[in-house]
Amino acid sequence: MQCPRRWRFRYIDRLQDPPGEDALAGSFAHRVLELLMQREPSQRTVAQARVIARSEWPETEAAEDYQALRHDEEQSRRFRWKAWTAVEGLWHLEDPAKVEVQATEQGVEAELAGVPFRGIVDRIETEVDGIVVTDYKSGKAPPYRYRRSRLDQVLLYAAAVEASTGEMPVRARLLYLGQRTIGMDVNHEEIDAVTEKLAGTWSEIRTACSEDEFEPRTGPLCGWCPYVSMCPQGAAEVAAAAERKAAEEARLVALAS
Ligand code: SF4
Repeated sequence: MQCPRRWRFRYIDRLQDPPGEDALAGSFAHRVLELLMQREPSQRTVAQARVIARSEWPETEAAEDYQALRHDEEQSRRFRWKAWTAVEGLWHLEDPAKVEVQATEQGVEAELAGVPFRGIVDRIETEVDGIVVTDYKSGKAPPYRYRRSRLDQVLLYAAAVEASTGEMPVRARLLYLGQRTIGMDVNHEEIDAVTEKLAGTWSEIRTACSEDEFEPRTGPLCGWCPYVSMCPQGAAEVAAAAERKAAEEARLVALAS
């Protein structure tokens, strides 16, 4: 949905798309929270999270993706701090000891509106009125106007949980660690809308594959795209953004002097 050309590079040409530092720090934080939430409620404390983080760190540090970042000691310290800030951010949003965990890192697989769908749900918990699907996010929480579209992913997870277990979750939510929680009630109307959207995207993908047409959709994300050197439109977008930034900085300097 973000860029068909990037999708083609990644899934058809199968070019490497190594996770960046933020994604790796997020994965490390997810792992710590997964293990924490598998503990007895009374053990879900900041101190226990720290113990888990220390014991998990050597494996993350030794992993190929992390080694590819070639961090020196200071960069490694900052990486660990970034991941730890995300972990600790859970306590800004909830008391983990009060969560009734049903499953963590739960694989879900279902056919939704004719589309084969697979996902891994960070957490499924039980509340008084039913089950809740929760996903952790270590990135920046979206501004209000993008809030609803960011929930599509957890809503699809909720749809897959219902399709595979017969029980419809009552809520779906995203925990933006250290920032805020965004969520919504789940109902059939919302599920139908999101699965229709999924079917529409699936149909676009099939058309693009049969016609071998994957348009570049340029935008701010080009600056983080690993394929920008192979994409003239994306490279032009990045250069134009750099020019705009330089012009704005020059304008601010002129204003201040
Ligand atoms: S550089 Fe931009 S337009 Fe090009 S593939 Fe990447 S995201 Fe798409």
